[in-house]
Amino acid sequence: MDATEKRRVLGQIAKAVSACTDCGLARGRTHAVPGEGNPDAEIVFIGEGPGFYEDQQGRPFVGASGKFLDDLLRSIGLDRKTVFIANVVKCRPPNNRDPQPDEIQACSKYLDAQLEAIGPKVIVTLGRHSMQRYFPGESIGRVHGQPRRKDSVIVVPMYHPAAALHQGSLRQVIEADFRRLPDFLAKALTGDLNGAGERVPAHLRTRAEAPPNPGSVEAATTPPPATTEAEPQQMRLL
Ligand code: URA
Ligand code: SF4
Repeated sequence: MDATEKRRVLGQIAKAVSACTDCGLARGRTHAVPGEGNPDAEIVFIGEGPGFYEDQQGRPFVGASGKFLDDLLRSIGLDRKTVFIANVVKCRPPNNRDPQPDEIQACSKYLDAQLEAIGPKVIVTLGRHSMQRYFPGESIGRVHGQPRRKDSVIVVPMYHPAAALHQGSLRQVIEADFRRLPDFLAKALTGDLNGAGERVPAHLRTRAEAPPNPGSVEAATTPPPATTEAEPQQMRLL
């Protein structure tokens, strides 16, 4: 799909979202917030759901956590026009409560379709709810900042910017995780990160090597090597 076609498909998805009544969140919304950005983005950020200001404006991440996200993007030479920003639910949960599993499920078709149209190299999940899409049952404290391959895309789970704003010590953590993003993207573009991912045994993960044969029983079934908090994160990339 070229950029024009991607833009057209994303526009259709946004239109469907704006008219959607597939879960209870439709009732409380002022505006649905489909997401926005570059249809050809190499990086997609996935947040949780619209808050007050997002619901008012119909745009993702325009409140306080959005300002922080803009700062984080700028710190690595990006802005929101070069990336794409979306959420797991497109309508605001009442009083900013967590989105419920049935709401996330009802809404996932839109995010799936957006990701399929854009075809990013890297997906950054912001917070627990978008992390759960890719790493069910994982803990953000354990896996944040660690890239993993999921099919043809590299997924990097990160703390939610709002959590980092409210909990001072997390601010430096998310800033440091962001600083590593350009490197992950460069590696994703050159295929160097093909070996990233828990299911690939460490001894198969070398820079020079081709990705393991996807049909290989070993690649598919060998359990991940045990990791500990103390293990240098860099080790997991190579
Ligand atoms: N928080 C989110 O997760 N998404 C938004 O769009 C805004 C705040
Ligand atoms: Fe539809 Fe998603 Fe809004 Fe629910 S949150 S009404 S599924 S667009």
